[in-house]
Order: sequence, then C-alpha cells, then structure tokens
Amino acid sequence: MSNMSDDALKRSIRNVPDFPVAGIQFKDVTTLFKDPACLLFLSDKLYEFYKNKGLTKIVGVESRGFIMGPVLAARLGIGFVPIRKPGKLPADVFEESYGKEYGTDSIQIHQDALCESDVVLIHDDLLATGGTMIAACKLVERFSPKKIFVNAIVELESLKARNLFSKDLEVYTVIKFDI
Ligand code: AMP
Repeated sequence: MSNMSDDALKRSIRNVPDFPVAGIQFKDVTTLFKDPACLLFLSDKLYEFYKNKGLTKIVGVESRGFIMGPVLAARLGIGFVPIRKPGKLPADVFEESYGKEYGTDSIQIHQDALCESDVVLIHDDLLATGGTMIAACKLVERFSPKKIFVNAIVELESLKARNLFSKDLEVYTVIKFDI
C-alpha cells in the first residue's frame, strides 16, 4: 500500500467544465492514471475491496472501463470481458440501448463471454445517470451469473444512480463528487 490519501486521489481527477457539451462537468480520469502513485493507490484499493468476493470475471465498459478493468482482473487472476459500442465485437452479440447524461447509445457483449457459474464485476470509470451501467447489468443478467457486483471509480452522487440498482447488486464507488 502506498501512503497516498483518498483526498489526494480525488484531487488527481481533473474537472473540465462544458465538455463534451455545455453544462457537463466532465471528470477526467486521465490525470489520475498518469500519476503512478494514484494509479497504484487506486489499484490497491480495488484489489483489497474485491479480493475475497469470489469474482471469476471482470466486465469492462468501453472505453474507460478498459483501463482499470484489466489491471484488476490480472491482479485477481481472473478473466476480462469487454462491453463495446456496436460494430466492434466480431462474433455473435447481445445488445442493449440506453440514455446517457448526454445523448443515447447502445452497447454489446459477445454471446459466449460469460456463463452461469460466473461471479461478475462490471466496471466503468464513472457512474453519472446510471444509464450505461444499468444497460451493462441487463447484458450481464442474460447469462444468469451467480452474482453481479458493480464498480465505478467516480460516482456523481447528486444524480442518485445508486438507487436504480436492485438491492442484490453490490455497488462500490471509490471517489464521490456531488456533481
Ligand atoms: P451514465 O450512463 O449517465 O451513468 O454515464 C456514464 C458514462 O458516461 C461513463 O462511461 C462515463 O465515462 C461517461 N460520463 C458521463 N458523464 C460524465 C462526466 N460528467 N464526466 C466524465 N464522464 C462522464
């Protein structure tokens, strides 16, 4: 464990006003990732939280879920599965559409990506309205895994996305912002 603090981790995230559209306070995690002490601290926190949960797969949401997702999967000794935008995955897929904090979109997962015996962690960089993560949960639920966990590095608490998840899903976010 490094001696970095939760406050320093939070401060490492850059706020970019009005990106990609007016009114959005964009939480830029690239400034966290480029700092080696922050990257290690975050990796340690995720590993400590999830090491005894019996996870068998991490599902990462394109594209910022593709950074810590594989880092954590490799550390836990389990597999990584990507959820991608339409037209990117080459084999047969399941698809879900959803509304976002800005715009609408669809996401896909390979039909052979998971199985009933899996214990799955779905990971993304940020939980805003929750639309993306709920759609990702619906994709994962198609496989009827034993249990689903949900994680984002950042949670925008005022949007109350946490209340959208069914109570049997354990939601853990590392850094909270009001907006
Ligand atoms: P949502 O579906 O509203 O929860 O939005 C979550 C997705 O959109 C994540 O994949 C984020 O990367 C991105 N996103 C939405 N709002 C923001 C924001 N304020 N700052 C950074 N990323 C965001």
